[in-house]
Amino acid sequence: MATETILLVDDDPFIRQLCRDILESAGYKTVILADGSNLHATVAAAAPSLILLDIMMPGIDGLTLCRQLRTGLRPFRGPIIVFSAKHYRADKQLAIEVGANAFLEKPFGPDRLLSLVRDFLARKISVRFWGVRGSIATASRDTVGYGGNTPCVEVRVSGVDDIFIWDGGTGLRELGRSLRLLGGNIKGYLCFSHFHWDHIQGLPFFEPAYIAGNDFTLVGPAQPTADLLQILSGQMASVYFPVGLEQFGAALSFQEIGEGIVTLGGVHFDTLSSLHPGRALIYRLSHGDKRVIYATDNELPKDWKTTGGAAAHELDRFLRFFQGADLLIHDAQYTPEELERKRGWGHSSWLDALDIAIAAGIKNVQFFHHDPDHSDNFLDEIRESAQQRVAASGGTITCGVAREGDLLVI
Ligand SMILES: [Zn+2]
Ligand SMILES: [Zn+2]
Repeated sequence: MATETILLVDDDPFIRQLCRDILESAGYKTVILADGSNLHATVAAAAPSLILLDIMMPGIDGLTLCRQLRTGLRPFRGPIIVFSAKHYRADKQLAIEVGANAFLEKPFGPDRLLSLVRDFLARKISVRFWGVRGSIATASRDTVGYGGNTPCVEVRVSGVDDIFIWDGGTGLRELGRSLRLLGGNIKGYLCFSHFHWDHIQGLPFFEPAYIAGNDFTLVGPAQPTADLLQILSGQMASVYFPVGLEQFGAALSFQEIGEGIVTLGGVHFDTLSSLHPGRALIYRLSHGDKRVIYATDNELPKDWKTTGGAAAHELDRFLRFFQGADLLIHDAQYTPEELERKRGWGHSSWLDALDIAIAAGIKNVQFFHHDPDHSDNFLDEIRESAQQRVAASGGTITCGVAREGDLLVI
């Protein structure tokens, strides 16, 4: 493996020497600057894998440099770790807002620095399914194998403490229980694809939301009829639920988004509108060169494989967005026969999900949003049919049926 280069900018000669010693003895190449005046040219020339930035420096401070690195003509896409001698929460928050991935407080020991750097350079993304069922939770014996909870996917990114969650279906309750084991306060981003019941009903049962000291940002597609707070507190109005959203003890903030780019906790997401009744989004998370896509509740256009016109335009949109991703979690609610009876309901067949994944060069596709009527045996048959189709086509794509509790590390 090629030696990775780490760029450090710090005005303190002691820290410069310390970091150089620690990083070089661990096998990394270092490029060291005493201030930010020559930073952009150095980044262009040295192509570092990771940048360490001090906050307090004469001339341009670290946070300004960080923002410049993220927003320039050729933004730096790798991890940025900011360090500071001051223990101000506001500094940490600000660092994340300007695009840093992590904040390291001085003084730090060699182990802390190295584990953070290694975590980032490993660029791992772990994905755990907490709810994979579509439309309505099922509690029958026939579905317990793949699971009956509605959509909820936990995503962790190496080097980042914050938790990312796609959708708040009933699986969110189980995810919340799993977080009991974590010490300290939890900071997370709960990103909704949209607000149909099956994607929000776990929120009132999400235990960490009731705990003071935790901090959650609720993110979702802007709707023309109501804002995010109205939508999410609406399902907790007294006529529906005994406890109101105002009784959550965690700090909550709301972020409405559309199609485009959004950075959450220093992690880069792209979003694309899905084909589904109402406004719904597909998310693509990037970490280093790894990409994971969450495309639930998406009805691929009819006859997209054969016709031109609108279907071709939509197809192109999806193909470009999905292209080459490491993992695609895609709506596969129906069989091809069921789909013909349920056109316009906003869901795809497993066959369409598989074929678009193959066409887009996806490495691993996981069928998601299983129909409540599909038993474990039925889903096993779908998996076998899909794998036979992959084998017959000579492809190398990994293809699976998402199962509650499964962990995938990308
Ligand atoms: Zn749904
Ligand atoms: Zn939906």
